[in-house]
Amino acid sequence: MIRAVIDADRCEGHARCVARAPELFDVDDEGKSFVLTGEIPPELAGAAAAAAQACPERAIFLHND
Ligand code: SF4
Repeated sequence: MIRAVIDADRCEGHARCVARAPELFDVDDEGKSFVLTGEIPPELAGAAAAAAQACPERAIFLHND
């Protein structure tokens, strides 16, 4: 199971993660990204990796449990 965790202290809210994977990420009213799903389905694993790579703050961590 793949999970995404966002380090809120690093997140600057540019929403590049949302642009790469809108099914997985959104940005709240305070400009912090959050994860929309607890378990990332296999078909979205590539999008999750692309979002993590696109994050300039390196705030997205993917865990494969
Ligand atoms: S791209 Fe990174 S820093 Fe920007 S909103 Fe997404 S998680 Fe936060």
